[in-house]
Amino acid sequence: MKNKAAFLVDKGKIEMGEKEIPEVGKGQVLIKVKHCGICGSDVHNYIEGGTGKRIIHFPFILGHELAGEVVKVGEDVKNFRTGDQVCVEPGVPCGKCAYCREGEYNLCPDMRFLAAYPVEGSMQEYLAFPEENCFKLPEQVSTVEGALIEPLAVGLYAAEHSGVKINDTVVILGMGCIGLMTLIACKARNVGKIIAVDIYDTHLEIAKKLGADVTINTTREDAAEVIEKLTAGRLADVTFETAGQGATAVLAPAVTGRGGTIMCVGNITKPTAYKFFDISCKEITLKTQFRYRNVFGLAVDLIASGKIDLSPINPKMFPFDQTQEAFQYAIHHGEDTVKVMLEM
Ligand SMILES: [Zn+2]
Ligand SMILES: [Zn+2]
Repeated sequence: MKNKAAFLVDKGKIEMGEKEIPEVGKGQVLIKVKHCGICGSDVHNYIEGGTGKRIIHFPFILGHELAGEVVKVGEDVKNFRTGDQVCVEPGVPCGKCAYCREGEYNLCPDMRFLAAYPVEGSMQEYLAFPEENCFKLPEQVSTVEGALIEPLAVGLYAAEHSGVKINDTVVILGMGCIGLMTLIACKARNVGKIIAVDIYDTHLEIAKKLGADVTINTTREDAAEVIEKLTAGRLADVTFETAGQGATAVLAPAVTGRGGTIMCVGNITKPTAYKFFDISCKEITLKTQFRYRNVFGLAVDLIASGKIDLSPINPKMFPFDQTQEAFQYAIHHGEDTVKVMLEM
């Protein structure tokens, strides 16, 4: 038995190959991956061959949004049995540093995160992983939903960390997968009005299905003007920037009200011309987040109880053998889908 894997062999090029099935260490389970989503960061790594200072040495395996079945348990595993369906929190913190000990493990400097070079990702059939990072999916939660829990975790943590309150007016800039997950999380928190902003009507349609009160397409409308009118000049209590673009980062202060909060969810990697006075003159709080912490269990519970419905996300599926095509689709069909997923 071999372990089929999708190897990034060069910028923009994935080839299917095989590797050994990993050994199952103490406290680890062996997972047969059933679904794996393609994240914006995977696409970035695929195109650029790395992110920032992290240069990938080929061949390399991408992917960190996965769910599958436990097919083997290692020594000392307490909470899992073969046959369990699980989703996986992809970051393994050191567990010893001050951040880890204080529960802020997403800030651990020694975090080993799937598909963050040199840690190989989950676009392979078998993955050995610590049981602490696995979350059991109850019967009513599918592995497709399981593979969407990682991006949902980003949205849940964004909402929690922003401090958004019941009845707040919320603006979400960007309705890609992370923007929609943030919308879902805000909805679950019973905020007041949700104003969703994007450049694609297709994405805004999904936002409506998920409960957005107002949608704004910035190719036709001036978001700041519309939001000013809608809120009688009060603007947003909390604005989420989820697109990771300079343009939306610059727009954020213009749609955020006095004493409001801007939550930076997207990864804005390019230098952005920002007038900080636009923030300070309204005493806006600027918050950031790095991945997430302590939300995977909550995510599973919310889906299982029906409080969160992920079905409008409707991932575009590709068989594992067509991983190269799936990436090309993700790059060229951004308007048609918010999530491309591999079916193993
Ligand atoms: Zn992701
Ligand atoms: Zn640590």
